[in-house]
Amino acid sequence: MEQHPLLDMHLRSLRLPAMLANYKRLAGDIAEPISYLTQLASLEVEKRHENGVRARIAGAHFPVIKTIESFDFSLQPQLPKVKLLELFDCAFIEQRRNFICIGPPGTGKTHTLLAIGLAACTRGFHVLFITAAELLMSLIAAKREDRLERKLKSYDRYDIVLVDELGYIPFEREATDLLFQVISRRYERSSIAITTNLAFSDWTNIFPDPMAATAVIDRLVHHGTIFEFAGESQRLKTRQRRSTGAAAATS
Ligand code: ADP
Ligand code: MG
Repeated sequence: MEQHPLLDMHLRSLRLPAMLANYKRLAGDIAEPISYLTQLASLEVEKRHENGVRARIAGAHFPVIKTIESFDFSLQPQLPKVKLLELFDCAFIEQRRNFICIGPPGTGKTHTLLAIGLAACTRGFHVLFITAAELLMSLIAAKREDRLERKLKSYDRYDIVLVDELGYIPFEREATDLLFQVISRRYERSSIAITTNLAFSDWTNIFPDPMAATAVIDRLVHHGTIFEFAGESQRLKTRQRRSTGAAAATS
């Protein structure tokens, strides 16, 4: 096959790997030069999109990949399915709205949060997944080292921050204050999504300062959609299935 070292070099220096990989093959298939170039450019656009999605998924730090397709809505009949599925076009992120999953353990709150995060990555949004405990630990450390402002600013580059398991953390005054700073900084500027096992009515009991609790809730809920999860823990069910399966196998 004919070699084109100069074209190869240009495509490499322009970082157009899909064009480089395909220009010879398509030159045989498509004679018309504009269609040829269009096809080649489309391949490059596609590849760049895929690379972007992959990079955003890696940058989001998801502990596992979960999709909404694998979510069984029949286990959560009280959830407004249509309303929840609507979130997956990610318009709420553009509108800087929030999204809150409340409910007992094992009912699919984190699963939903992860699935939203994945959808957001594929749609071009920058996402961070972090547990509330991790978030607070890193904020407290930053504050001790006198770099709190820089730390808070580092979250600004994300279109949405997904905070998992708010409520398992001790709500000391310092923690509440830091949490409040993250939430108010994002308020009406970018999205935040949280999962929690705490009903809002309990927040005021747990926060050391009921005023702070109310302020946090207000900012989260104003421009936010709340989804209430309920029922038995799927984690327990899986474990029970496993152990009965094991018992059956040994008997
Ligand atoms: P939570 O965050 O509410 O404690 P998780 O989302 O971590 O619960 O769910 C626990 C496990 O059960 C996960 O592996 C999750 O994928 C699965 N799970 C929970 N609810 C559902 C559901 N409705 N459909 C499919 N899988 C589910
Ligand atoms: Mg969870």
